Amino acid sequence: MTDCLFCRIVAGEIPADVVLRTDEVVAFRDISPQAPVHVLVIPTEHHENIGALAGSAPGLTATVLATAAQVAQQEGLGDQFRLVFNTGTEAGQSVFHVHGHVLGGRDFTWPPG
Ligand code: 5GP
Ligand code: ZN
Repeated sequence: MTDCLFCRIVAGEIPADVVLRTDEVVAFRDISPQAPVHVLVIPTEHHENIGALAGSAPGLTATVLATAAQVAQQEGLGDQFRLVFNTGTEAGQSVFHVHGHVLGGRDFTWPPG
């Protein structure tokens, strides 16, 4: 059994609110949403971060990005969303299975308005 939380979600060992799933990717709602829409998009294959993924699997990287855009459409965000890949502890990465945060449904501009 793996100790990677997101590999365990892929395997169905830990429940998640899955919004989209293929053989290559899974998208599921963040357990602690920071916006009205907050979905995590991950490859089913384990890679530690976006750099590792892009370096070893560029095709899968493109699929993850396209899936993020598809999830935004599916969630009603159209082309108005933020896509974030925290990379490394200093950037706030806490789960070391690459994941894109698809965030939307509120104003992210600063100052707001
Ligand atoms: P990071 O901080 O690594 O960029 O993002 C990890 C994200 O995973 C956080 O936003 C956190 O709320 C989310 N998360 C942590 N544990 C779980 C879980 O068990 N289920 C779900 N759906 N999200 C989780
Ligand atoms: Zn993993």
